[in-house]
Amino acid sequence: MVSAKATGYAAGVVGGPLEPLAWTVPTLGGHDVRVAVSHCGVCYTDIQAIDDFYGITTFPFVPGHEIVGHVEARGSAVSELEVGERVGIGWQGRSCGGCRWCEQGEVQLCYDIAETGTWERHGGFADSVTVDASFAYRLPAGMPSAVVSVLMCAGISVYAPLKRYAGDGPRVAIYGLGGLGHLAVQFAHALGYEVTAISSSEAKEAEARHFGADHFILTADRDRLRQSEFEVDLLLCTAHGGVDWQVMIDLLEKRGRLVLVGFPEMSIWSRDVVVHEVSITGSFTGNHATMNEMLSFAHTHGITPEIELLPMADVNDAIRRLKEGSVRYRIVLANDSSA
Ligand SMILES: [Zn+2]
Ligand SMILES: [Zn+2]
Repeated sequence: MVSAKATGYAAGVVGGPLEPLAWTVPTLGGHDVRVAVSHCGVCYTDIQAIDDFYGITTFPFVPGHEIVGHVEARGSAVSELEVGERVGIGWQGRSCGGCRWCEQGEVQLCYDIAETGTWERHGGFADSVTVDASFAYRLPAGMPSAVVSVLMCAGISVYAPLKRYAGDGPRVAIYGLGGLGHLAVQFAHALGYEVTAISSSEAKEAEARHFGADHFILTADRDRLRQSEFEVDLLLCTAHGGVDWQVMIDLLEKRGRLVLVGFPEMSIWSRDVVVHEVSITGSFTGNHATMNEMLSFAHTHGITPEIELLPMADVNDAIRRLKEGSVRYRIVLANDSSA
């Protein structure tokens, strides 16, 4: 039967810290499922939301949107998922269903996007979450839950643009080698790109090559970056900050494309954007079809997030380490029963 309370970790105020919180389990709508969370990855977006960087956070706020768990209960209209089935849930947990973008299946562009987050109200740093069943994805058997959780946000965030813009040309650069970047290198390699990894950390070169990078450039190596002018068709920026945009634009081939998948501060001199006719665009999670395709592709090609597994109760340590930049490459929190 329905347990009256859900529990998790919430930021009570802007900036946190996260503290234990209990709340009444939401009543299931006809199309909802409630999922008992076994694992949840920690994404930089969680930190930015705790800091109300996006201006949409309501407190107390339970973050967490790289979720794997088992269906615990389902609404009366849900037939596609069985109770007990393992599912993954990403950033988006619902959509309005009626806007022009939802009608086209581009649910990630829903006009009500700010209200569609899985963490609205409450996210995966908890014992259960409630979402629309269409946003709970059946997972390939054989992929460990702790590992596959990371694909639900980091994976889809990088796979979607790498797939969408594959026609731009064969040379991709991945800027930043964190949770998103280390997966982007793997996906890009498996998609057949010639991959350049760009990182501020010399220590990551061997790992970048292990993930499938053909080339590695240190952000401090200005000579090498200058020599690489026009050598990139598609540049995927996964960094949260500290980007030298002029240098990045100069890497792009004429009519090349810069895709942002994180939310760094941005300042760009228009000259080379205009003269080189480059495009700058964002990419945000993915629709249902792309999510299912990404999961299948990752399974087929052995795309494997590198994780550190911690108990859910260590969530504040996880956030501190992510802020420090010392995570290789994703922390996944596990609830006690599955740690
Ligand atoms: Zn995320
Ligand atoms: Zn919509």
